[in-house]
Amino acid sequence: MLKGKTAIITGSNSGIGLGVAEELARAGANVVLNSFTDRAEDHALAADLAARHGVEARYLAADMSDAAACRGLIEAAGGCDILVNNAGIQYVAPVDEFPVDKWNQILAINLSSAFHTAAAALPGMRARGWGRIVNIASAHGLTASPFKSAYIAAKHGVVGLSKTIALETAGQGITCNAICPGYVLTPLVEAQIPDQMKVHGMDRDTVIREVMLLRQPSRQFATVEQIGGTTVYLCSAAADQVTGTTISVDGGWTAL
Ligand code: NAD
Repeated sequence: MLKGKTAIITGSNSGIGLGVAEELARAGANVVLNSFTDRAEDHALAADLAARHGVEARYLAADMSDAAACRGLIEAAGGCDILVNNAGIQYVAPVDEFPVDKWNQILAINLSSAFHTAAAALPGMRARGWGRIVNIASAHGLTASPFKSAYIAAKHGVVGLSKTIALETAGQGITCNAICPGYVLTPLVEAQIPDQMKVHGMDRDTVIREVMLLRQPSRQFATVEQIGGTTVYLCSAAADQVTGTTISVDGGWTAL
């Protein structure tokens, strides 16, 4: 379905980004993986995707907290047909204690990087008359929780940025949307489970159901495959007129 298309997925050496790359490669797209590290295992992830799906796959290191590096990633890849802005980090503290450097870093990686990569990718998409920008926002792009001010401000910003890009590209064969996942079981989330079990004195299943998934009515994690599949849908012809919107993959969180 996506044969001959090139997809760049930022922050894709683990978790959701890697899951999205896997599903795009399965659909036939050539993929460019990215993170800020440049290790042998990062490049091995790309080689593995290429071998299993018969597509071209590369790993390009670029730090998404750096504006020039964001734009440089698109240039180094030779442009792209599909851009998935996924790189993101989290930090938790009350507003009045929130470290300024953490605020700036989260805004840079979770929000500004999507502006810079989109700005660099759009001229090529316009020239080819086809493009897909998929921004991985969050249920926290639509709702708030205490102590996550920077993350929530950034993710709400990503939703707004997606709408603006959609309006500026409407009718040009280009769409821009945001996916809003609830809790997704990634290595990052998996690593929090033992701590949560200790803090709450609960077993694994109870702490997942009663603490971690309290706001997710399905009481089930979303999976990286589901976020990848939603991305593939947004890249399909069925989604040609789907632009400037959000798709929640959150087990009902935002329906509450
Ligand atoms: P993760 O930590 O596994 O993935 C984050 C990715 O971003 C990693 O590949 C990491 O290397 C990369 N990254 C971090 N800083 C970077 C930088 N400066 N430059 C380039 N890459 C950088 O976490 P994840 O759970 O897979 O999260 C991926 C995205 O999904 C994030 O934007 C996150 O906010 C969003 N999200 C996650 C969940 C969840 O429950 N896991 C829910 C909603 C939204």
